[in-house]
Amino acid sequence: KSAPRLFVPGPLEEGAHVPLEGGQAHYLGKVMRSAPGDAVVLCDDLTGEWLAEVSGVGKRDVTLAVVRRLREREAVPDFWLCAALIKKDRFDLVLEKATELGVAAVRPVVTRRCVADKLNPERARTIVTEAAEQCARTALPALAEPVKLDALLRDWPAGRRLYFADEEGGAPAAEAFAAHEGPAALLVGPEGGFDDAERAAIRAHPAAQAITLGPRILRAETAAIAGTALWMGTRGD
Ligand code: SAM
Repeated sequence: KSAPRLFVPGPLEEGAHVPLEGGQAHYLGKVMRSAPGDAVVLCDDLTGEWLAEVSGVGKRDVTLAVVRRLREREAVPDFWLCAALIKKDRFDLVLEKATELGVAAVRPVVTRRCVADKLNPERARTIVTEAAEQCARTALPALAEPVKLDALLRDWPAGRRLYFADEEGGAPAAEAFAAHEGPAALLVGPEGGFDDAERAAIRAHPAAQAITLGPRILRAETAAIAGTALWMGTRGD
């Protein structure tokens, strides 16, 4: 069985003692039944991935000793998923899958037809962190505060292509993605789609390019996850 992996506050360094409490102590102590000397892999989203070993198991706390660095923090594909907020359990799926797929950031977007218009930050952070631990990322995706579509477009950073997942049509996504070099993002609408004014504003944006994921109407979470997977599939990193 592979060693448990945990994100902990950094910066980690050789010989550091890492005290764990709460859920992480419970996970190691009770669920994994860790014993002194057991290996644990730690990441701090700063210095990379470290081999640690359990040095003490208390009633409610577990202490680890950092042994050595295993990997540097990875260079994350410079791709943002800008996903309109959708029903909680489905947005949770988007957060988890986008993390597994390797995005650099998830930027939730509030659009006129969003049913959900806020995100529980602690819950989202937990989902993203656990997904990163499961898929052995050494870097966490950034998780932005939800922003309204017009603010997202207004403050869009120069040099980043904004691929607009448009069910009304666009360039075939795999072709557009394969041909692209540099920072990029994928914008996906909510269950009810973008309204005409929003669609016009997106298409008018200089960084935007409409892409299609095929002739069928995909659920928002399907478009977000499939579009991200297509992007990652055309990259080596
Ligand atoms: N217009 C849709 C309808 O008639 O049900 C509502 C939006 S669709 C359920 C949710 C989002 O997924 C869309 O806003 C779009 O961003 C994306 N999407 C769905 N199908 C797509 C496709 N075939 N190609 C690209 N994006 C798609």
